[in-house]
Amino acid sequence: MSRVTIDELTKVYDSPSGSIEAVDDLTLAIDDGEFIVFVGPSGCGKSTTLRCIAGLETVTDGTIEFGAEDVTDQKPKERDIAMVFQNYALYPHMTARKNMAFGLKMSTDLSEDEIEDRVEETAQMMGIEELLADKPKALSGGQQQRVALGRAIVRDPAVFLMDEPLSNLDAKLRAQMRTELQQLQHDLDVTTVYVTHDQTEAMTMGDRIVVLNDGELQQVGTPLECYHRPANRFVAGFLGSPPMNFLPVEADLDAGALSHPRFSLSLSDSIMADLDGTELVMGIRPEHGSLTTTPDAHPEPERLVEATVTVTEPMGDVTNVYLDVGGESVTVTAGGHLGLTDGESVWLYVPEAKLHLFDAETGTAIKHSDEPIESTRVSEASRYAETA
Ligand code: ADP
Ligand code: MG
Repeated sequence: MSRVTIDELTKVYDSPSGSIEAVDDLTLAIDDGEFIVFVGPSGCGKSTTLRCIAGLETVTDGTIEFGAEDVTDQKPKERDIAMVFQNYALYPHMTARKNMAFGLKMSTDLSEDEIEDRVEETAQMMGIEELLADKPKALSGGQQQRVALGRAIVRDPAVFLMDEPLSNLDAKLRAQMRTELQQLQHDLDVTTVYVTHDQTEAMTMGDRIVVLNDGELQQVGTPLECYHRPANRFVAGFLGSPPMNFLPVEADLDAGALSHPRFSLSLSDSIMADLDGTELVMGIRPEHGSLTTTPDAHPEPERLVEATVTVTEPMGDVTNVYLDVGGESVTVTAGGHLGLTDGESVWLYVPEAKLHLFDAETGTAIKHSDEPIESTRVSEASRYAETA
């Protein structure tokens, strides 16, 4: 177990077409035993950061510490880590048992018997005892990934590093493995850095998530913090499916409203008073909008925005309604079956407490939704309280 401290990490690749800043001045402290997820679009620097932590890349600048030890210049095998990759990387000519034992043989001076015991014990925990005699090609993708995880776990490292380990599995198995892996990490209590481009994995698995874009840190926080209190428009748009709707608006301070060429939305004075600039982007989560076909019966008719239904997508429990709002496309996720027809006029209502506002130029968040963000996970505070 180990705390991991990354300080001003920069990694520049020199390529024939110029240099690429894959990681740009990243500073981050990962708690002992924490499950932290790096998430962001392809090419944002997740794998490079992970490879720097592993020692598979030399850093251009900055330092990496495990506990109090500076490991920046250590070789991978000198660091107490175990990695799991997307492509399993099992040795094809070895049985599952040998695959799991191999790393222990190479990196420890455990006896054959001790190694055997640890492999058995880990296989039992992972539910793969029956697979130990098989070679990888006799195993399904899910079984191979379990063996690959088992091979990492048996090493009992200070830090697990996982790069998109579930990406090759089908959707159902991926969802199942997500839960299992989380449970396993919780039981083992080993500091884990998990990389994914999949925002659902990040939201469901991480104690905290680290959102990266273009090599730069966007936000670090619990999943709900990042979802409901995004630091900027990038984070707001990256987390959530269907994604947050964005509409360009101007703050009309005299009218006390956000104005768009095709509609105007009155807001409370308290919100308007906090606005600095006038060029804004309004953000609406699909689940925060509701629709009515009888605007006169609505308690806040002055806060309704007229829209036209373009497409409805009944999902069973909810319906995704795609709207045209003054030429902009807006998605609303409504409960149940609404019986709306394409082309129908409806009125969109968003409680102002749920509205997000961003600076149009910088993307920095100005106002958040008031959704609660307390989670049932162990909070930072109680984590420290435990060890204090
Ligand atoms: P991610 O894992 O988030 O998809 P990567 O960390 O793999 O992103 O890549 C970050 C950036 O660095 C990308 O622009 C990628 O093309 C570049 N890159 C990664 N590895 C190398 C390399 N070995 N040589 C040159 N450029 C690289
Ligand atoms: Mg990658």
